[in-house]
Formats: sequence, structure tokens, C-alpha cells
Amino acid sequence: MRKSPALPRTINPNGAVVTPLASPAPGEMAAPRDDGALPAPGAFDSHSHMDIMGLPVDGVIAAAHAAGIGRVVNAGCDLPSSRWSVACAAGYDSVYAAVAIHPNETAKVDGRRDEVLAELEALASSAAVVAVGETGLDYYRDWSPPDVQREWFRSHIGIARRTGKALMIHDRQAHDDILAILAEAGPWPPYSVVFHCFSGDARMAARCAEAGYVMSFAGNLTFKNAGPLRAAAEVAPPDLILAETDAPYLTPVPHRGKPNSPAMAAHTVRALAAVKGMDVAGLCGHIQSTGARLFGW
Ligand SMILES: [Zn+2]
Repeated sequence: MRKSPALPRTINPNGAVVTPLASPAPGEMAAPRDDGALPAPGAFDSHSHMDIMGLPVDGVIAAAHAAGIGRVVNAGCDLPSSRWSVACAAGYDSVYAAVAIHPNETAKVDGRRDEVLAELEALASSAAVVAVGETGLDYYRDWSPPDVQREWFRSHIGIARRTGKALMIHDRQAHDDILAILAEAGPWPPYSVVFHCFSGDARMAARCAEAGYVMSFAGNLTFKNAGPLRAAAEVAPPDLILAETDAPYLTPVPHRGKPNSPAMAAHTVRALAAVKGMDVAGLCGHIQSTGARLFGW
């Protein structure tokens, strides 16, 4: 529900235009096709970018609620999207914010380091913020040099520690360095670190489980080529699993090819339950208690 009309205009910082495809890609995971709402207690979208979706938030939230997705965490990638996330969370009861400079965006603001980090820390202190993220390392793209990314990652860890917020990790082809930097900053209280759009295999899932890190799975879990990711989900303990959309990206089967939206987290929850051989309501119960411990809502 909307609390105030003060929400800034939806912007589209990446100019992202998501072109719907004529038909979904063939041969995806035989995910349950039930489009109805999740059974009680439902779930939530642990990582979304409604600012990039560029649709009216009221409608996005209403559709999510209708699908049994009761809350949405909107993640920042730079200062404008972090400010947007905090304003959105202040305006809607079921929206929460995460704030950070995405590892790919760190080089752009490296010359204004102190000033940017000071504003991030001030934003992170707001009651609407439940996590510092998305932060971490991305060795897949070379938009920011690895040493710059590592410095910013360590600074984000400091902000999460000082503000008592969860640390929301972006890890792309950087498992070993992420785990090493987390270990050097540890010990971590239980339920204080979450890997957004978990991208590891079963071995990485076992390492995260041993350290007590939460693994948030996105819609790519349902893709045909996601065998290693499904193997990771099988290994991940039910109490360390979340579901997310990363909307507008990574739309799950059976809607692959259309823009993603928080409501579609319901498909990923069902796919996770199928992979783990759990009933959907039972998995939702675990997801809700993990979310409450991680995000403190
Ligand atoms: Zn994201």
C-alpha cells in the first residue's frame, strides 16, 4: 500500500528496453505451470530493480501480491538507483531497499570515493534499508578494474557492518575472491550475508552453506542449461534459500522472453520446491523465516 505520494518519477537509468520475444525458448525445465498465487505463507522477491522496469510501482506491487509475493527488496546499483530504492521503500509498506554501487559501476565514481561512500552510509542507515547491495565482484565484465572492485567491496562490507544491515552480494565469475574477502572480514553473524542471483555449482553451494551464507536463486534456475544451478539448489539447506527475480532480467520459464516482474518470483519458488522435493507451502515457510532473520522485517 502506498503511504505517501512523494515517490520520484520512475526513471530508466540504463535506458533498458526489454523486447518481448514472439515465443518462449523451447525445451526449458519442466517447471510446474501453475500461475495461481503461492499457498500461505507465500514468499517475497529478495532482489528486484523496479526503477529499471519503468512501470508504475502500484501495479507492479498489486500483481506481486496477487501472486503471493508479499514483499519486494529493490536493489540499488549506483547513487541515483539507491536513492530511488529508499524513496520507494518509504512510500510503500511492502517495498524494502538495498543500497550500493554495483561492482561494474565502481570505476565511474572512484574519483569521488569518500563523498559517494558517505552518502551510501547515510542512505544505508535509513530504516527502509534492509541490505547493502548489490556489491561484490564481477570478473565477467571489465567495466571496472578488479582491484578497484575489491576496494569498493571492502568498503561496502564496512558499511554493512557499521549499520547492521545484511550484505547482498553480486558474484560473477569471482567465487574464490568473494569467499576470501568475506572470510577475512568475518566472523559473520548468522543470516547476515546473501548471494543474490546465486551462480555457483553444488560445490560452491556447499561452501556457502558451511559459512552460513544465504543463497538467493533467480529465474535462470528454470532455464534448460541450468543443470549445475539446480544441483546447487539441491545442496543448499532449506533454511539458507531465497527466491528473487532480478527484474526486469532473467524472466523464469514459462514466461521467458517477456520482461520480468516481482510477481514472477512465484515461479522460481515453485521450481525450487520441485528441485528440492519439498511442498511449496513448506518451502515458503522456510523462505519467510529466513527473510525475517536476514532482513529483520
Ligand atoms: Zn540485480
